[in-house]
Amino acid sequence: MRLRNVKGSRETIAASEFTINEPNQFKGNWKKEVFGNENPIHIEIGMGKGKFIMELAAMNPDINYIGIEKYSSVLVRAIEKRKEQELSNVIFIRMDAENIEEVFEEQEVDQIYLNFSDPWPKDRHAKRRLTSKEFFSRYHHILKQDGLVMFKTDNKDLFDFSLEQIPLAGWKLEYHTYDLHHSEYVEGNVMTEYETKFVGEGKPICKLVAYR
Ligand code: SAM
Repeated sequence: MRLRNVKGSRETIAASEFTINEPNQFKGNWKKEVFGNENPIHIEIGMGKGKFIMELAAMNPDINYIGIEKYSSVLVRAIEKRKEQELSNVIFIRMDAENIEEVFEEQEVDQIYLNFSDPWPKDRHAKRRLTSKEFFSRYHHILKQDGLVMFKTDNKDLFDFSLEQIPLAGWKLEYHTYDLHHSEYVEGNVMTEYETKFVGEGKPICKLVAYR
C-alpha cells in the first residue's frame, strides 16, 4: 500500500500530536511516559491506514495501542482518520519494524498484530517478511512471555511460509485456519482495510496465532 509522493507527509507526521517522532527515547517507558497508565500494550506492525487498530482502540479503552507503519505517505492517511476520533489510547510510529528492538524493551509488548503483511515473494527477500524466523526472533525479545502474535493474510504462499517458520523460530501454533470467515475463529474478528476488500471479492482469509 505505498502511496507515492504525498506532498508534505513527513512534515504532517512530525507536527502531529498522534505520532511519536523519536520512539527510541521511550524504550522501557511507553506505558508510563506516553500513555500515563499501566495498561497492556498491543502493537500492529504495518498498520496501513489504521482502520483495524483504531477500531480495536475504541472497543478496548483499557489497552494501549501502537500502530507502526513504514511509509509516511500511508501514515498520513491514518492521521487524517485519527483526527475524527475521540481516542486517548492509540498512537502511531513511522518506522521500519526491522528496528523494533530499539524501540521496545524486553517483554514490554503484550500482543502483536500482523495484518496482510507484504509478501516479499522472491526467496532472497524472505528475511524481510514480517513472519520470517528473523522477525519472530525480534518479537521474542519485545513480547512478554505469554504474549501472542496474530497474523492474517489472503496470501496462501505467505501463510504456508509463516506456518513453517513458527517451529523453526522456536514458537508454537495456538491455532490456524485457511478460511477465517467460515471458521469458529471469526467471532469478534475486526476487519482491516485489506481484509474488507478481499472478503468483498470472495477471497478466503488465513489466520494464525503463535505463542512460545
Ligand atoms: N494492515 C493493513 C491492512 O490490513 O489493511 C495494511 C496492509 S498493507 C498490504 C501492508 C502495510 O505494511 C503497508 O502499509 C506497508 O507500508 C507496511 N509495512 C510493510 N513492511 C513494513 C515494515 N517492515 N515496517 C513497518 N511497516 C511495514
